[in-house]
Amino acid sequence: MTRHDVDVVVLGLGPGGEYAAQKLAQAGLDVVGVERDLVGGECPFYGCIPSKMMIRAANSLGEARRVGRLAGSAEVSPDWGAVATRIDKQATNHWRDDAHVERLEQAGVRIVRGEGRLDGTGVVRVGDDEYVAARGVVLNVGTSPATLPIDGLAETPYWTNREIVKVAELPQSLAVIGGGPIGCELAQVFARFGSRVTMLEVADRLLAPEEPESSALIERVFSDEGIRIETGITIERVDHDGAGFTITTDRGEIEVAQLLVAAGRRLNLQGLGLDTVGVDPEAGLVETDERMRVGERLWAVGDITGHGPYTHVSMYQGEIVARDVLGQDGFTADYRAVSRVTFTDPEVGSVGMSEQQARDAGIDVRVGHADLAESSRGWIHQQGADGLLKLVADAERGVLVGASSVGPSGGEVLGLLALAVHAEVPLERLASMHYAYPTFHRAVDVAVTSLL
Ligand SMILES: Cc1cc2nc3c(=O)[nH]c(=O)nc-3n(C[C@H](O)[C@H](O)[C@H](O)COP(=O)(O)OP(=O)(O)OC[C@H]3O[C@@H](n4cnc5c(N)ncnc54)[C@H](O)[C@@H]3O)c2cc1C
Repeated sequence: MTRHDVDVVVLGLGPGGEYAAQKLAQAGLDVVGVERDLVGGECPFYGCIPSKMMIRAANSLGEARRVGRLAGSAEVSPDWGAVATRIDKQATNHWRDDAHVERLEQAGVRIVRGEGRLDGTGVVRVGDDEYVAARGVVLNVGTSPATLPIDGLAETPYWTNREIVKVAELPQSLAVIGGGPIGCELAQVFARFGSRVTMLEVADRLLAPEEPESSALIERVFSDEGIRIETGITIERVDHDGAGFTITTDRGEIEVAQLLVAAGRRLNLQGLGLDTVGVDPEAGLVETDERMRVGERLWAVGDITGHGPYTHVSMYQGEIVARDVLGQDGFTADYRAVSRVTFTDPEVGSVGMSEQQARDAGIDVRVGHADLAESSRGWIHQQGADGLLKLVADAERGVLVGASSVGPSGGEVLGLLALAVHAEVPLERLASMHYAYPTFHRAVDVAVTSLL
């Protein structure tokens, strides 16, 4: 065993770990980053970026198909090759992390390749090397696709997000198990490129954590686009005969050429040595305080903290850790206004609490609505203008505690609502604001006014 004395070890280099490692090294600390796969993590190579490139392409097809009702005619001939090439070359550099490594090394971070494991306070082992961190260890080990206990599934060549980003040719038909953000985004992409898509979801609606109104709207749009939706379904077993999949459900058998499983994520906590630092590896998340501290000389950021499996949360937490390690003042973690966007068309954005969550929290809830299709901009837009705003207000305090923004630019409109929730802007003040005509965000005025 070779001992190395350093200031900080960042174990796992997802977005938040990468951010913290860079900041700490730039501040002059001796930082080691340990990564077993690709530096940068899930987002740039298997998650956000390749999936959003697929969506950009699929949305251009969707928009072209609207030409007939708006501007004459357009012939649409989807070509997945263009998407596959763009992901391979532009997004992931053939799944090589050189650019990420270079950026970190330029900042002064030493990258150590391999599986890291905690071995007591401030100690990380990688193979025969032991790194002893005087300031501490930052955990950013992230998640992997969840495995489902469905009979037969494990023996089949199903896809997860790991495989789907490398697909070169589209299947004629695709079943998607999981109606969450990843399942919905990819289902619509493949349907728009011409695959016959069936969505299978055990919950009684797609995007179950979102407002029921958002789920209903997405289900309607998806059905109109020819996506078959089976919610509240039980999957009994999955078989593959070398040519295709047979999915046996309580509603009968479904035959498809390919299967995508997008049903949740598993935290990469097994074998991490959490027990050596007094943390329960079975707890289901790594608990952190408002400075992202887990315990003595130990911090955690990203999906493992359970505050939202999003890149922006991981980086936000990375910033807090960097400051805490350096002993600098600044904001501490506040999750009242975490925003999230499912990049379907229409986009489904939301921030803070849903109506139900607010009621469960004992808040005196008031709800405001606006129908985007009925707004001036929605009426002008017409094709693809489906959307809604739902605002959840704390009537007693006169502020928003949550909001949903579904629409063609739902994620962008959300920014305004996220600010209102974050800064606790009084409703009267929101109502007195100028909203440019005829923008989609002008519908916020309608929804706010409906609350007063
Ligand atoms: C298909 C898909 C689409 C997504 N789209 C979005 C989106 O649009 N917007 C958004 O905000 N989020 C999106 N996400 C989520 C986003 O990718 C994650 O929230 C983000 O990557 C942050 O994760 P993280 O910081 O926890 O670490 P991760 O990105 O999961 O990285 C953790 C790293 O730790 C490494 N590691 C794990 N264990 C060890 C070990 N023992 N030793 C060494 N290294 C280890 C892993 O190899 C990995 O590189 C998407 C995810 C998926 C799968």
